[in-house]
Amino acid sequence: MMEPVAVYVHTPFCPSKCGYCDFNSYAMSGGIVDRTVQAMLAEIHRSPWRGRPAKTVFFGGGTPTFLSPGQLTGLLKAVLEVHPPIPGAEVTSEANPGTVDAEKFDAMVEAGFNRLSLGAQSFDTGDLHRLGRIHEATDVAKAVAAARRAGFRSLNIDLMFALPGQSMRGWRTNLELALGLAPDHLSLYCLTIEPNTRFYRHHLRGALELPSEETQVAMYDLAVQRCQEAGLDHYEISNFARPGHESRHNLCYWRAEEYLAYGPGAVGCFGSGDDQRTRYTNTKHPERYAEAVESGLRLWCDEEAVDGHTRRTEAVMLGLRLSEGLDVQSMNLDPDPMVKAVERGWAAVSEGRFRLTDQGRHWCSEVATWLI
Ligand code: SF4
Repeated sequence: MMEPVAVYVHTPFCPSKCGYCDFNSYAMSGGIVDRTVQAMLAEIHRSPWRGRPAKTVFFGGGTPTFLSPGQLTGLLKAVLEVHPPIPGAEVTSEANPGTVDAEKFDAMVEAGFNRLSLGAQSFDTGDLHRLGRIHEATDVAKAVAAARRAGFRSLNIDLMFALPGQSMRGWRTNLELALGLAPDHLSLYCLTIEPNTRFYRHHLRGALELPSEETQVAMYDLAVQRCQEAGLDHYEISNFARPGHESRHNLCYWRAEEYLAYGPGAVGCFGSGDDQRTRYTNTKHPERYAEAVESGLRLWCDEEAVDGHTRRTEAVMLGLRLSEGLDVQSMNLDPDPMVKAVERGWAAVSEGRFRLTDQGRHWCSEVATWLI
């Protein structure tokens, strides 16, 4: 039997572009959406990996729930035909709380989605407005209730912190409101200002009032404390879950495993065993992507050979983010940097694994550099 693999599907459309967003997403509607979905169906059906079972499927974007129920479930049906899911496979869709309703959720669960990742980002109307989100603060609780009624077995909420003008008090309120909805999983992201975004241009003009670095650290530490008190395990630097609800799809990335990907701008990485891997990126713009699929042209706009050294480097950087840490022997970790990190209280070694401590999580990149 072929080895099960993680499968990612990128849907590139959103109702509008958020001020901080540098993802491959487009505020487009009308015919291009259907044309792109048709092209994605063709790409999936022509997959060179047909028959490889899916252990996880993840629809991200963009906003997958911007698509109609028929478009979204049609894409999932194609994926599950080409990549038969293993029993208990995790099948996730991201969702914007402003683009969902009970009917869409029912159709999604019926089609096989069993996990939902809701992009709440904040419960404060001012924050949402500044971020350029299209949903209202009250939409999140409604979406959570509707998702539970529809029967998703696992529910994640995404929150962002260190937002322009955000105080510790504002962040604490957001955290409590999110935890009050009893999510199975919480992902917490510190706002980063990326080039080619509206926020970047505002930042250059000095028009973004961002919390200081000390406040950002205090916000993160508060989140760690409150999530742990709420019974969520801190299993990855930015991610917390009730036991058994860790994101199995994202664990594949953090464990540097293979992943296949479909859709405009999707990034996949394949090649098993000790062989060299290939990382590819699909053509990003929906029109160029649809043209390429329709005319049978090459779909990849970027292709990179990932050799053994690069694989190890990535495995160290990603694996350090996990509370399970790194296997000292199989990763052939150098003792000197490990001792240095342990002496500073940033890491511990137990049961043959090297793990960051709570304090060490603030120094993850530094420790990774020492180990590499
Ligand atoms: S909803 Fe997400 S992908 Fe879409 S524009 Fe906003 S941040 Fe970007």
